[in-house]
Amino acid sequence: MNMKTHARVVIIGGGMMGVGLLYHLAEEGWGNDVVLIEKGELTSGSTWHAAGQCPSFIANYNMAMIHHHGNTLYPKLEAMTGQATGWHGCGGIRFALSQEELDYFKLVQGTAANIGFRMEIIGPDEIRRLNPFVDTKGVIAGAWTLDDGHVDPSSCCNAMAIGARNMGATIYKYNRVLGIDKLPNGEFKVRTQNGDITCQHVVNAAGCYADRVSAWLGVKTQFTNMLHQYVVTEEIPEFAARDVELPVMRDPYPNAYYRQEQNSGLIGIYERANTVEAWAGVGQKWEAENELFAPDFDRIMPWLERVMERMPIFESVGIMRVINGAISHTIDSNPLVGPAPGVKNFWLCTGSSIGIAQGAGCGKYLAQWMVHGDAEINMTGLDPRRFGDYADKAYTDAKAHREYWDMYDLVLPGEERPEGRPARATPLYAKQKAKGAVHTEGFGWERPKWYSPDGREEECGFRRNNIFDVIGDEHRAVRERVGVMELPSFSKWDVSGADAAAFLDRITANKLPKVGGIVLTHALGENGRYQTEFTITRLAEDRFYLLSASFCQLRDGDLLAFAQREGEDVVIRDITMDYSVLIVAGPHSRDLLSKLTDQDLTNASFRWLNGKEIEVAGIPVRALRVNYVGELGWELHVPMAQVAELYDAVWAAGEEFGVADFGTYAMNSLRIEKAYAGFGVELTNEITPVEAAMERFVRLDKAFVGKEAVLAAKEREPRLQMCYVEVNVSDADVAGGEPVFHEGQVIGLTTSGGYGYTVQKSLAFAYVRPQFTKPGTTFEIEILGERCAATVLAEAAYDAGNARLKA
Ligand SMILES: Cc1cc2nc3c(=O)[nH]c(=O)nc-3n(C[C@H](O)[C@H](O)[C@H](O)COP(=O)(O)OP(=O)(O)OC[C@H]3O[C@@H](n4cnc5c(N)ncnc54)[C@H](O)[C@@H]3O)c2cc1C
Repeated sequence: MNMKTHARVVIIGGGMMGVGLLYHLAEEGWGNDVVLIEKGELTSGSTWHAAGQCPSFIANYNMAMIHHHGNTLYPKLEAMTGQATGWHGCGGIRFALSQEELDYFKLVQGTAANIGFRMEIIGPDEIRRLNPFVDTKGVIAGAWTLDDGHVDPSSCCNAMAIGARNMGATIYKYNRVLGIDKLPNGEFKVRTQNGDITCQHVVNAAGCYADRVSAWLGVKTQFTNMLHQYVVTEEIPEFAARDVELPVMRDPYPNAYYRQEQNSGLIGIYERANTVEAWAGVGQKWEAENELFAPDFDRIMPWLERVMERMPIFESVGIMRVINGAISHTIDSNPLVGPAPGVKNFWLCTGSSIGIAQGAGCGKYLAQWMVHGDAEINMTGLDPRRFGDYADKAYTDAKAHREYWDMYDLVLPGEERPEGRPARATPLYAKQKAKGAVHTEGFGWERPKWYSPDGREEECGFRRNNIFDVIGDEHRAVRERVGVMELPSFSKWDVSGADAAAFLDRITANKLPKVGGIVLTHALGENGRYQTEFTITRLAEDRFYLLSASFCQLRDGDLLAFAQREGEDVVIRDITMDYSVLIVAGPHSRDLLSKLTDQDLTNASFRWLNGKEIEVAGIPVRALRVNYVGELGWELHVPMAQVAELYDAVWAAGEEFGVADFGTYAMNSLRIEKAYAGFGVELTNEITPVEAAMERFVRLDKAFVGKEAVLAAKEREPRLQMCYVEVNVSDADVAGGEPVFHEGQVIGLTTSGGYGYTVQKSLAFAYVRPQFTKPGTTFEIEILGERCAATVLAEAAYDAGNARLKA
């Protein structure tokens, strides 16, 4: 068969991820114009040798949606395509060995209620009823998920391939892609062993080879290929005698999964030590197909022994087969699904370490993104651009090994993992540490989370803990005196040129500020949904300073670069690394800073939402009178090399006012009292300003990208709408993702929350059906299994009139 010479989409790689995407692009209507190219047989990479489990036990709503889609589609595929998939709907049981894990189960149960998959928390007796061979020593509960199971990966992948072909898609096997060229017209030329094919979109679904494929276009794709082993035992007569298949067991004690495979046992180990990278130092061979590695029992033996303790029946049989194969593991365990950084229409659908379970769901939501401009779930946690240049090989490897060790370990809220850190530390880092700062990492940046006043360590968990009052002290220092916090992690750009104003006006929904002014504004997609949030300061008629969230640095760099029209006089400079930021906020912030600058800081010359280039302590800064904590205050954007000097000056000047350090925990408490929504959390690619009740930031009297869609959204009733609530909690605040109930029915979910120490209320944001958003409406939020009464508030719990900010 002659190969097509042109297609709308070329997918490179015929494993579960590539074929999952092919199927869903076809379902979205692009079938006749999408081509998949595979260098060997379909599934001949990591897919064929996988153990095939498809768990639904995931706390994160978006990832759980991805898993749920697979678990819904795979059981139906055989009837749809005629190809058997080997689906076994045996369910799964995950063990909790601690109270914290049990809390986690309750969190996941909330996700299950939101999404609609069945999950029950069961005790040891019930566990032993479902699996009479297991020793439940030390197990306090099990999370029994009833709608998942396992498939035969090759058969299931082939069933999706048949389904895709039936919808018009084309697959070329035994044809290696040799390179990709970006053409001047924006298209790509994909060079293969059997000829060239041009296309508008290229998708890299090359599994363990994906870093090499990305490199053809100069793109860095961060993951580590880890070796993972499972063993299959000889037949076990007791299994053969059963009518009902055992559930898949997932157990933190041996960090393993074990289940019935036909009449044998199957045991997979995530060893917590001596983990090995596949092809370390030599790289993958293009010619390899169905590649396996020599069994390495020594590595897994200690963990295998623990499995034998749990399932003594395995001791009575020998091992029939060992599979040692490569899987890609990313820095945070989530796959890389979405646009590759820097190259328009180059997409990634790779980096999955549970790709059998995730292939269909990743394909579904990436197909939506490619065809409609967005997915219906929040893709922030999957977007390949969530890692920047700081994520080099050493960093990626350190994180990937850790993620592998943690496969069944619970990382508690508040727990910090040291691997790869610090990646981006400012000159203040050591000083902060010396003052007791506990840092958290975001986009590689180290940011103070809280300051330990007495050396105490956080007792991490899902409930309020031993640092609750410490955070309260930091909070009150800002509200009552003056607080200082370094927040270097904003993404920062200078945008200048004769057309800069017109350019920014076109791509953002709010009115641009006058010279000296600051606005909060959003870039929307053509569909009216949030793409990013910018704080724009106009430094001159033709010079703007843009700030956005740390994790948006690559995304927004692309957004700005791709929006620029040919011939437009606009210069965009990423200056993220040039500046750090000190937030100085609180009723005494003016008194403090007035000691360090000649600039008049009174309202007469420096009003709220104004920014100026001034000197503070003799250091040139961009001083912005804006903040996320809701007090009189300034953000001082200071050259990175001088941040420590400025901090010392601020501290010395502030001592008479009781200046205090504060961190991100206190900031969350301060912002939730002010009802400030967060980009990427409340405001996402799923949401328009109408749903977010944020129309005050949209100027419909001007033209901007997404305006028609916003107008259309105003005409229809939103499915869900954001509201701000006070919650009657016991010892845990809303974390985000909790289901919201009214008269026993799920009516929405929360996005974030926290305790407001000044107003002494537990507060949260939730998206619920519009009829429930009226102030005074009550419903229930399920926090760690407890239904807590919530009341919709009409306005911010603290200083709704912004008097403090304008003081
Ligand atoms: C021992 C083991 C057990 C596992 N068990 C499970 C499990 O129980 N459940 C689960 O969900 N996951 C499991 N996994 C993980 C799972 O196998 C992977 O996550 C999944 O297969 C990844 O799919 P993929 O499509 O990204 O990659 P792959 O299946 O590797 O597909 C990538 C394809 O790209 C092709 N390709 C690469 N370069 C080119 C090129 N230049 N031109 C053309 N084609 C190219 C390759 O030949 C390959 O077929 C397991 C993995 C291992 C090793």
